Amino acid sequence: MNEEQKIYDFIIVGSGIGGLLSSVILAMEGHSVLVLEKNHQIGGNLQVFSRDKRIFDTGVHYIGSLDEGENLYQIFKYVNILDDLKMQRLDEDCYDLIRLEDGSTFKHGQGYEQFKKGLYVDFPNEKAAIDDFCKTLKEYCDYFPLYNLETFDGNKKSYINDPEILEISAWDYVNSITSDKKLQAVFLGNGPLYAGDYKRTPLFVLALIMNSYLKGSYRMVNGSSQIAIALQKRLREHGGELLKHQEVVSSTQNGASVTCVQTKCGDTFYANNFISNAHPKQTVEMFGAEKFRPAYRKRLELLDDTVSAFMLYLSFKENSFPYLNHNVYNYTKENVWDTVDYNESEWPEALFICTPPSKATTEFADSMSAMAYMNIKEVEQWGESFNTVAESAERAEAYQKFKEEKQEKIITRLEEIYPNIRESIIGVHSSTPLTYRDYIGTKDGSLYGIEKDVNTIGFSKINARTKIPNVFMTGQNLVFHGILGASIGALVTCFNFVEDRELIKKIKSA
Ligand SMILES: Cc1cc2nc3c(=O)[nH]c(=O)nc-3n(C[C@H](O)[C@H](O)[C@H](O)COP(=O)(O)OP(=O)(O)OC[C@H]3O[C@@H](n4cnc5c(N)ncnc54)[C@H](O)[C@@H]3O)c2cc1C
Repeated sequence: MNEEQKIYDFIIVGSGIGGLLSSVILAMEGHSVLVLEKNHQIGGNLQVFSRDKRIFDTGVHYIGSLDEGENLYQIFKYVNILDDLKMQRLDEDCYDLIRLEDGSTFKHGQGYEQFKKGLYVDFPNEKAAIDDFCKTLKEYCDYFPLYNLETFDGNKKSYINDPEILEISAWDYVNSITSDKKLQAVFLGNGPLYAGDYKRTPLFVLALIMNSYLKGSYRMVNGSSQIAIALQKRLREHGGELLKHQEVVSSTQNGASVTCVQTKCGDTFYANNFISNAHPKQTVEMFGAEKFRPAYRKRLELLDDTVSAFMLYLSFKENSFPYLNHNVYNYTKENVWDTVDYNESEWPEALFICTPPSKATTEFADSMSAMAYMNIKEVEQWGESFNTVAESAERAEAYQKFKEEKQEKIITRLEEIYPNIRESIIGVHSSTPLTYRDYIGTKDGSLYGIEKDVNTIGFSKINARTKIPNVFMTGQNLVFHGILGASIGALVTCFNFVEDRELIKKIKSA
């Protein structure tokens, strides 16, 4: 190390929401912080891209818990980014529309009362099941103190005192309260938000995610990248630094601790502590597999990631397609939670559809995004190539053909819902699991990182602390995924350096 080389208090590897939020919180506490990001654009899944003069989100389409006073609202308020964000609240009586195999549609309203009201009309004989479902979602959320911006108190209800609640299957629970197949499908209808699967998904995952959307569902006008940009601004105001095109590839240890990291372009950066926002498997590789216990590495290897996705992005002719202030989940299979391990010939069996808010008009949409589950195996044959803005490469013609075929299948499915949609389309674009793999840095382009599987839940817990005393983790794999989940993960990471009660107090009183 030369004498001018700065030693930061913290180096954060990756600028996803977890990395950025951790960086701002630590900088606000007076620490010197450097964020290293491999990509051309910051934000991880908050990245956007532009085609046909339209902005498309890549990995965040709507965000929950943003009504005033809710948990994510308070966290964003504490780091002072709310005023920078232009948001659109989704429809009160329908933030998500569930469209079942037979074409029937059902609304999820915002807030428990509105949610119940809508379903009581559709399922008048199922009031008891609807009430039970809502009560159970709330009860399960109460098991997670931090989710409610509380610290752990041994005398109160928590998943730590009652770990058995983590092992309850969402599917078994829903089947226990009603035998009405349609109502079951409606309860589970926004499952693509967490890759809901009847064999694997725990009830607590459904509760934490669904509750958050019931507590205020919003779209980001002009793309979700504004969250990353706002956080970067706050970081700089608090003296923090961020460098792009800096992919961390290795580290150097002195005794037990890491002293510096090396990046792909040959730079070295020094710090007292390191926080990785990358996937735990990539973190182990980055800091040296041999420095972690074999049992830990093996456990990580055995953990499955959630499935990946194919995304279709459509640009519309001006004033030709109505703006939908809700999302649509469309199914062509009775069991909506048997769509992750999909049948290729029936693909897409589950389709998430949204129209981002247009800058020009509230009446019409200028684009649409549609997401369908896709296993990376389908594009494995082109897996050798790597393509991002920072490191670009052409993929084979056959890959383009594959994409076009999939695009066409989704458009055909969309025509079943919106018969004239084709007339509105002026541009068609798409991304595959390889896109997510390359931009986020995971092996399989997974949608939401490590899967929470009710059958192996004990193994899937990832601690913020690692075997290396000054290396920590953050992001979606710690607690749960999504903007809310990864933000709570950032708090968990920061509790290693900031007294938890103090930080929570500051967030709640922001
Ligand atoms: C298609 C899709 C749709 C989604 N929709 C929603 C939604 O509507 N609402 C919602 O709340 N959530 C949604 N999610 C989930 C949500 O986007 C993620 O859970 C969350 O953004 C993950 O944040 P993170 O902090 O874990 O970091 P990530 O977003 O995973 O970012 C990690 C960062 O680390 C960087 N990095 C990795 N390795 C290195 C390295 N070696 N050196 C330097 N940098 C590195 C990456 O480039 C990246 O910037 C969606 C995800 C996907 C994929």
